[in-house]
Amino acid sequence: MQILDVIDKSRLDRIPDKSVRLLSSANYHELGYTVFHVELRLYYKRTQNEPYSIITIFVETNHGTIEQILNEGYLGLHALEEEAAYITSHLVISELIMNSIKRLDDERRTPMLNVIELKQQNLINIMKAKGFLKEWKVERAIRITPRHIFVPTEYIEHAYEDRPLPTKSLQTISQPSVVAKMTQLLDVQENNKILEIGCGSGWQSAILSKLTTGKVFSIERIPEIVEFAKKNHRTAYIQNVEILQGDGTLGLPVSAPFDRIIVTAACKTVPEPLLAQLNDGGILVAPVGEIFSQDMVVIQKLGGKFKEIKRESGFIFAPLIGKFGF
Ligand code: SAH
Repeated sequence: MQILDVIDKSRLDRIPDKSVRLLSSANYHELGYTVFHVELRLYYKRTQNEPYSIITIFVETNHGTIEQILNEGYLGLHALEEEAAYITSHLVISELIMNSIKRLDDERRTPMLNVIELKQQNLINIMKAKGFLKEWKVERAIRITPRHIFVPTEYIEHAYEDRPLPTKSLQTISQPSVVAKMTQLLDVQENNKILEIGCGSGWQSAILSKLTTGKVFSIERIPEIVEFAKKNHRTAYIQNVEILQGDGTLGLPVSAPFDRIIVTAACKTVPEPLLAQLNDGGILVAPVGEIFSQDMVVIQKLGGKFKEIKRESGFIFAPLIGKFGF
């Protein structure tokens, strides 16, 4: 869909009708604020001759009273459908929405959200609607790790869509909802030492670094991608991740044992060295199966024994290539 070229701001200003109504409110105790869900019906058209279409956007706000939100503006966009996500992420429409937000912000002297935060909010909502993002700690880590820093410049427009994107050397950056899911399954505790196999863009390891005060090690096979990930980490001011080039199927014996191990490439079976380098009480998450279809497997080590504690089907990752891989 290309609406970028055909709607200009002057036409948008003359949108015939906008209406909002309150749907519900929810208390997010963990985050310490109340969220109001507001429905916004926005009329738009893509070309001069096309009739107006209606789009419904769900808005989430933690600012102001209900009356203020309804009368003056709104913060944080919820778009539960892909089409809505696209339209609200559209720059000109975002600007229009931002003007309403700014009115509210000026009054309340709260920091203004920017367009990127709006796009990110859409993505967060899509991940929640799919049931892939549930934990507020993980949500927070994702929020403070902007994905657009981790995608190649030519794909920046797509950084906040829920889909994988190309990195370099025919490899990919995982789909955001899958990253959210794996991060939750890994159940990171505050001072965990973590090993990731398959650094890629570095987005997953950056998110993990926000969940632990311990060190995160991430191994990547392809030198060009190692450089890409390191550059991304510098840009995003990621401090406690060490990115290493090598065959991750061998693990990292010099720094073992690890409290958490995450493999972000498809494995035939979980590489033996990784199991051997898991700390007692530790958790390993890996996509295991055939080259075009894997199960997400969660293994816990307790009292020297390994136990599969969870398995979910329906994942597709780039293959893990190495001594204990494909
Ligand atoms: N976690 C990444 C996505 C990883 S995609 C992110 O957040 O963007 C899978 C990555 O695994 C690819 O970059 C691929 O080069 C890498 N890979 C494949 N086999 C590997 C191996 N044996 N050791 C380390 N990395 C490997």
